Amino acid sequence: MTLQQVPTLHPTEEQFDNPIGYLASPEIRRLGDRYGFVKVVPPEGFKPPLSINEHRFRFVPRLQNLKELNLINRCRMFFHKQLANFSKTHGLGVPASDHASICGKKVHFYDFFIECVKFYQPQGEGRKLPDISSSRLLHDEKVWLCLTAKFKLQRSLLMDFYEENLLQYFNFLANKPEFSATLIEEQYPTSLLQDTNGAVSEDEEGEDEGDENCLVCGKSSDPENTLLCDSCNKPFHRYCLSPPLSKIPKNSWCCDNCIIGNGYYGFKDSTVEYSLEDFKDLSDDFDKHHFPSGKPQDIDQLEREFWELVNNTDNNVKTNYGADIHKLLQGQVSGFPTKDYIPSRYRSGELRKKYNEYVERPMNLNNLPFNKESLLSYLDIDISGMTIPWIYVGSTFSTFCWHVEDQYTLSANYQHFGATKKWYGIPSHHAEKFESYVKSLAPDLFAKQPDILHQLITLVSPFTLDQAGIDCYTANQQPGEYIITYPRVYHAGFNAGYNFNEAVNFTMTSWLDYGVMASKNYRCSGMKGSVFDLWELMMTVLEKFEESDDDDEDDDDFDLELVQKCLDSMKVKLEDEYAIQATILDSLDIKPQRYNALAAKHSYELTEQEKKEREDGISCIKCKGFCTFAFVRHYEPYTASKSYIPVTPQASPQDTEEGDKRRCSKRIRVKSDAETFKISVYCLEDYLRLQHPNVSRDEFFIAHDLEDAKALVQSAEKKLSSLLS
Ligand SMILES: [Zn+2]
Ligand SMILES: [Zn+2]
Ligand SMILES: [Zn+2]
Repeated sequence: MTLQQVPTLHPTEEQFDNPIGYLASPEIRRLGDRYGFVKVVPPEGFKPPLSINEHRFRFVPRLQNLKELNLINRCRMFFHKQLANFSKTHGLGVPASDHASICGKKVHFYDFFIECVKFYQPQGEGRKLPDISSSRLLHDEKVWLCLTAKFKLQRSLLMDFYEENLLQYFNFLANKPEFSATLIEEQYPTSLLQDTNGAVSEDEEGEDEGDENCLVCGKSSDPENTLLCDSCNKPFHRYCLSPPLSKIPKNSWCCDNCIIGNGYYGFKDSTVEYSLEDFKDLSDDFDKHHFPSGKPQDIDQLEREFWELVNNTDNNVKTNYGADIHKLLQGQVSGFPTKDYIPSRYRSGELRKKYNEYVERPMNLNNLPFNKESLLSYLDIDISGMTIPWIYVGSTFSTFCWHVEDQYTLSANYQHFGATKKWYGIPSHHAEKFESYVKSLAPDLFAKQPDILHQLITLVSPFTLDQAGIDCYTANQQPGEYIITYPRVYHAGFNAGYNFNEAVNFTMTSWLDYGVMASKNYRCSGMKGSVFDLWELMMTVLEKFEESDDDDEDDDDFDLELVQKCLDSMKVKLEDEYAIQATILDSLDIKPQRYNALAAKHSYELTEQEKKEREDGISCIKCKGFCTFAFVRHYEPYTASKSYIPVTPQASPQDTEEGDKRRCSKRIRVKSDAETFKISVYCLEDYLRLQHPNVSRDEFFIAHDLEDAKALVQSAEKKLSSLLS
C-alpha cells in the first residue's frame, strides 16, 4: 500500500527570490490546498554552505520509544497500569498484561472499555466520561450486541471477562464524575508509563523539593497519618483524600491520580549531550545493532519497518532525536549563513563572497518569516521556533509526531544534509475529520489531555488514516530540498538516518483567515497555543498602512488585500468586544481602569502578579487566549481545602537556558491584608462564566481602548477606499 507523493516544484531564480509571492500565487496555492504540503527544489546552484560551528554545537536529544508513540498502544499501556493500580489498592488480582485471552482471542481491556464508553454520550460539557457503571451497562442490550459484534465472541464469555476484570474498575470510574475535579495536576504524575512503580530512581530523587508535603493540602505535618502512593510515591494525608480513609491501609495503596490516570506522556531527555560527530556515531551504532545484515537503502522498506515498530508492542526500540534545538550562541543558531558568524573555512576570498551572498537570500530561513509578504514581519518580538529557526538533528527512525503549526501558520523546512526525511501530511480540508477520527480512537485520553495533538507525542499510521477516508500524502525530503506546509496541515514523519534540518514559520495574506480560526479553536479548547496576539498584529498592520505614504513612488505598494482582510476581521472583533464590555459593566458593578501599570512602572515597583503579566503577556487563565482589549484580575480567596499546588513548569535544560515558546501557566499565592488570594487573569467571556466573582476586590482593566481601535479601523478604511477608487 502506498500513498501519493506531493508535487515537487522547481521555481525559477526569480520565483525563488520572491518565495511568498510564489507560494501564494493562485496555481501553487491550489496545490497547497489540495495536497497540504509541497516539495520545493531550489534553482541549480543554490547550495548554502553549512554555517554551524561544528566544534561548539552541542545538544541533548530526546529519547523516543517507538511503540509508545502509537496512540492505541499507549492507551492500552496506560489502561493496564491504571487497572493494575486499582486492583492493588482494592486487594484484587493484578492483570499480568494489557489483555486477556478468550478462546485464544486477545481482548484488550482498553478496547473493551472504549467500546463501552463510545456507546454513551458524555453528560453535559466539560471533561467527563459517560456513566459506565454496572447498573447501566449490565442491562443494556445494545451495548452487548455491539460488543459481541466487535470482538466476535459469545456474549456470555464477554460478560464473564467483564465481571472478572473490569466491572469494579468501571464502577469506581463512574463515581468520579469529572477528570479535572479529581486530578491534582494534568502533568502529575509525570507519566504513568514512566514512573518507577514505587521505587524512586537515583536521578529523580530529591528533584522535587515539595515532595515531602501532602499533595492535597500542601502541608508536611503529621507523618503518622501520611501515606505514600505505591505508583507515584507522592505523600497524602489520609484525611485529605476524598473520601478520607479512616486508617492507614496495611496493603498496597495508590492515589486516585494513578488509578484514573491523567494521560500525560512526555519524552525524556537523554542524559548525554552530543556534538554532531558523536550523534552521527550514535546513529551509526543504532544501524549496526538494528540491521545486523546491513541497513536497507530503499526508503519504502525502511518505511514498512518503521511502522511495524510503531504499531507492534513486541519490541523496545528507542531512538534519539535532537529536536527543537534553539541555541542563541554564535554559530549555533542556524545552519544558514548569517552575518554574525562565518565558519573559518569560508573566511577568505571567493568563498567568503559566496558565503555572504547567502546571508540575504529570502529562502535563507533566518529571513523568510520577515519577508515583506509574511505578516510575522510586523511582529516586534522574536519568537523562538516561529520566527527564529529551530534545528533538528535526526537519527534512524527518530520521529516527529502529528501536529499543526502554532496558530495554523505555514512552515518551511530545509534539509542541510543527511538521510531522507519521510513526510506525511493531511490537507487542511481534512483537518477536522482527522481530529475527530483520532479522538474517536481514544475519547478518554482527549478528555484528560485535550491538547494532546499539540504535544507532538502521538502517531497514528497514515495508512490507517487513508483507510478511514482521510486524505494523506507523502514526500521524501533529500538534502538541499525544502518542504513547505500550508496552514492547518497536520503533518508527521520520521528520519531514515542521521540528518540535519532546520525549520521556521511564516505566513501569507491568505493565512489570516486561518489565524482567526486558530484563535477561536484554541479558545474553545483552552489550549495554550497562541504565541503572538493576532489582534495586536492586525492593528499594527493597519497602523503601518495608515503611516505609509501613498504619494511616495519608492514606497513599496501595501498589500491591499491584506488590509481589507484585517479590516473585515477587526470590525467583527470590535463589535464583539463592545458587547461584552457592556455586559460586564451592566451585570457587575466593576469600574474599568486604564491598564498601564507595566509601561509606567520600574520593575522593582511591580507586584508578583504584574511581573508575571509582563513576562507572559496578559492571557486568560481559562482559555489561555491573549486579552488584547480588556481583562479582569480576579482575586480568589485561598482556602486550604482547594486542591491546587504551586506549579513550576517542567522545563528541559534547553528551555530554561533560552526560554520556550510554549508558555506554561503558573499559579501563585500572594499574601495581602492578612488574607491569601490566588490571583488570575480572566478574559471577559470567561470572567462572566465565573461562579463566584469577587466583585469588591476584582479589577477590570482596559488594555486597549476600543474607541482608539475603532478610529484606526475607520481611518484605514477611508484610506483604502480612496486608494481603490
Ligand atoms: Zn494533607
Ligand atoms: Zn499516585
Ligand atoms: Zn478566557
